Amino acid sequence: MLHIKNYINGELVELASKKYIDNIDPSRGKVYSYIPDSDEKDVELAITAAKVAFPAWSVTPKDVRSKYLLKIAALIERDLNKLALAESIDNGKPLKLAKTVDIPRAAANFHFYGTGILHYAAHTHSMEDTAINYTLRQPVGVAGCISPWNLPLYLFTWKIAPALAAGCTVVAKPSEVTPMTAYLLSELCIEAGLPRGVLNIVHGLGGKVGNAIVAHKEVPLISFTGGTKTGAHIASIAAPMFKKLSLELGGKNPNVIFADCDYDNMLHTTIHSSFQNQGQICLCGSRVFVEKSIYDKFKKDFVEQAKKLMVGAPLDDKTKVGAVVSKPHMEKVLNYVELAKQEGGTVLCGGKQANIGGEFSEGYYIEPTIIEGLSYNRRTNQEEIFGPVVTIMPFDTEEEVLMWANSTVYGLASTVWTQDLTKAHRMAQNIHAGIVWINCWLLRDLRTPFGGVKSSGVGREGGFEAFDFFTEPKNVCIKLK
Ligand code: NDP
Repeated sequence: MLHIKNYINGELVELASKKYIDNIDPSRGKVYSYIPDSDEKDVELAITAAKVAFPAWSVTPKDVRSKYLLKIAALIERDLNKLALAESIDNGKPLKLAKTVDIPRAAANFHFYGTGILHYAAHTHSMEDTAINYTLRQPVGVAGCISPWNLPLYLFTWKIAPALAAGCTVVAKPSEVTPMTAYLLSELCIEAGLPRGVLNIVHGLGGKVGNAIVAHKEVPLISFTGGTKTGAHIASIAAPMFKKLSLELGGKNPNVIFADCDYDNMLHTTIHSSFQNQGQICLCGSRVFVEKSIYDKFKKDFVEQAKKLMVGAPLDDKTKVGAVVSKPHMEKVLNYVELAKQEGGTVLCGGKQANIGGEFSEGYYIEPTIIEGLSYNRRTNQEEIFGPVVTIMPFDTEEEVLMWANSTVYGLASTVWTQDLTKAHRMAQNIHAGIVWINCWLLRDLRTPFGGVKSSGVGREGGFEAFDFFTEPKNVCIKLK
């Protein structure tokens, strides 16, 4: 069985400790490869390599850095099928989704930042005839990048690509639950000839590898995507060390549906925004608020459509809902369904583990689940579930639904469905979230800032904001007389 290797100083390296963790295929519930159980010593090697590589990489001309990134993008595109298959097996997501969303987006991340850096400019400020100020933007140093399991290569590269383009060197840790595409990426970086130590990938547990990266004094910047609790822990270590921090955390996103919406488009998209990737996208709408006059119709249609979604093996083309990522995660999600029932909710469909039989009978499948009858302030409607489980609720007025939408500690994303332009803008202005999608979902222009408010995180990724994050501004003031 394959033993994944760390990528340190330009090479795939064996672990000194020879300790490995099981890598489980969630669609079968079986071990299919081994992940390095790296420790502080491996992190130290990676940080040393990144530190040594930094002076040369940080002054490598932008167009040269750009060429490396574009080469990696091209290699990802070349290996799309191989990477998609690896991601689907590692994560349990439908292969089709990995092929059409995750892997193309990983290539797009390298493309976008590889070209974007060529157009990134700093400011000058003239004080008329007294002085001129110009701002240098200099790469911060060794960047620590830590990513989650739900969109493994997509989110991993969303951090790595801007960091490398901006001139930082990187020590990165993918989620231990889904390491395979990060491992394949390290092979592609070697093939692309990326200079030694510029990118280092250390596999292993968050509490060990992640913690060691965050706590290391030679890593002045941490870009983290993951759960809010982990983010708070990271902030508690990084803040007293005055590290630059970007935290992309959890969500409990509202999907607000007004009676005047384009109904068919809304219904089709709401099925996706609720259940795509088994509901394991931080941007999925998990609280669906529907204007009372269309609630009964919506409920009937939504449940009917959700029941039609085929729960199946990730590699089957007909599968719409694959396996959730792990057994503990499946148990967590199903416990929330139990909580919803205890809170007085009614399960309209799903609510159980699905057994799809055969070689997949031990896999971690959950039927798409819709729950109604819970007030906005119940725990089910306040805490992140991160699975194929949504609640639906009828509302009377715009004021009421806004209050409900804004009632959680989170503020990552939101969706509003209406044909009334004024109402759409009013909602967008008043919803507490980093993104408001109007009559669409998951449409992303990579130039726009990305991130959440409240407990969904601090800092913004995306666009040139990412370059601002991975560089430090230095103002130079020249007196003219
Ligand atoms: P976790 O917070 O559990 O883990 C995220 C990453 O942090 C993993 O690589 C993990 O390693 C690592 N980690 C865990 N503990 C520590 C630690 N003490 N120090 C440093 N690193 C650590 O999140 P999940 O992987 O479970 O991902 C799901 C969460 O991510 C959800 O809450 C979701 O909303 C959020 N998310 C947010 C997004 C956004 O853009 N806002 C996008 C996607 C997901 P290991 O896997 O080994 O535990």
